[in-house]
Amino acid sequence: MLQKTSHFLKEANYIGGAWVGADSGETIDVVNPANGQRIGGVPKAGGAETRRAIEAAQEAFGSFRKTSAAERARMLRKLHDVIMDNQDALAELLVMEQGKPFAEAKGEVGMSASYVLWYAEEGRRIYGDTVPSPWADRRIMVTKEPVGVIGAITPWNFPSSMLARKLGPAIAAGCTAVAKPASQTPYSGLAWGVLCEEAGIPRGVVNIVTGSASQIGDELCSNPLVRKITFTGSTEIGKLLLKKSADTVKKVSMELGGNAPFVVFDDADLDRAVQGAIAAKYRNSGQTCVCTNRFFVQAGIYDRFVEKMVEETKRLKVGSGLDDGTQQGPLIDADAVEKVEEFIADATSKGGKVVAGGSRHALGGTFFEPTIITEATPQMRFMQEEIFGPVAPIFRFEKEEDGVALANDTVFGLACYFYTSDLGRAFRVMEGLRYGLVGVNEGVITAVEAPFGGVKESGLGREGGHQGIEDYLDTKYVCIGGL
Ligand code: ADP
Repeated sequence: MLQKTSHFLKEANYIGGAWVGADSGETIDVVNPANGQRIGGVPKAGGAETRRAIEAAQEAFGSFRKTSAAERARMLRKLHDVIMDNQDALAELLVMEQGKPFAEAKGEVGMSASYVLWYAEEGRRIYGDTVPSPWADRRIMVTKEPVGVIGAITPWNFPSSMLARKLGPAIAAGCTAVAKPASQTPYSGLAWGVLCEEAGIPRGVVNIVTGSASQIGDELCSNPLVRKITFTGSTEIGKLLLKKSADTVKKVSMELGGNAPFVVFDDADLDRAVQGAIAAKYRNSGQTCVCTNRFFVQAGIYDRFVEKMVEETKRLKVGSGLDDGTQQGPLIDADAVEKVEEFIADATSKGGKVVAGGSRHALGGTFFEPTIITEATPQMRFMQEEIFGPVAPIFRFEKEEDGVALANDTVFGLACYFYTSDLGRAFRVMEGLRYGLVGVNEGVITAVEAPFGGVKESGLGREGGHQGIEDYLDTKYVCIGGL
């Protein structure tokens, strides 16, 4: 178990390169979801502290924007190395406050390092254009410049990597940042301050504040010095931040909720589909925005799919993330457990059948049994709402077009998955699904090299890939005349 002496476990905010408390001296408790025990407390900062962090970022921007892409790439490569040198300690910190199995936490930290390295590379390829001019005596030059100070608000389900894919491109582009990690998992966020110090990122380039979400969020959204808001979290809060950012016309990137369908056609490779289904459903105990929310299975394979899913689901080992072999950790908090119970009660009252799990786990606390509900129907709440827990509702459909229509019947459009061995169907369905991310015969598809993001109410903008740096850049057109 990580000791309080670990230099990654910081209980102060990082502003202008200094570690400071909240003005009020108040703190918020951080709890280990695996045992309900308090780990410690982090500053309960508000508007004033956030304003100072923004000013520190603005001051740092003055010189940071002038650094060369090569210099910033060197800093990011160093940051990558510092993360990887401390992968186990950072993963342990993550498990302690978030609950996910150690192997997943280690994977997340590795992913953080990969994002940082990717943007070390991409930052050197921020090309502009010279465009053929319509005038004989003038030339057209188009350049890309960093937008300035960015505000980054991140959730508790990926407390390390969600910051990586915001801070990585921000630094690569020459922006400076004020980050606000989720209050449930602030340590993995604050650890970025330590990592930045060790990597030699100049003071004020990255600032981290913890505390009142609404006060910090209000300041980030209303302060004119902040030129861009990047948010990962619920659609509800995303809409609020969009409205608040409108007054100062900020750039916005929003990674919001999902309602991922997982469609299995009669001609699918059953074993492969089940393997993908388990990964796409139960990763992080179902608490990711790309986790399957609804399984649509064609009638001819329905019973066999259910039987195998039940078998595999019952095999999942539930326990503390730090115990060997754990595949399912606790849910983040008591509210999450209650919400999962409400979804199950709603489904069973409308004819759904619980064929695996269905209850709180014998381990107590916020542990929940991986659950499968068959005979799901569109009248049930999970047809439209995100479960964010280890519950797999399985719907039945007859025709290909019905499967696609059901999958698209949602305001969300982040990830979707489908399984078929028919090439023509693969193309028809891939083109018919209105989603930002599509897994064809694949249940885990995130990669730093690929653009991540949704359509419809799942968000705006893309993170990762070469696209992920665009939102941190302004385009400038320069007309050079009198030649
Ligand atoms: P989740 O449901 O995953 O907790 P939220 O959207 O509630 O998602 O939270 C994601 C992030 O948004 C967290 O850092 C949270 O503290 C922050 N947040 C919540 N409410 C607000 C708000 N009113 N203004 C700004 N940030 C907020």
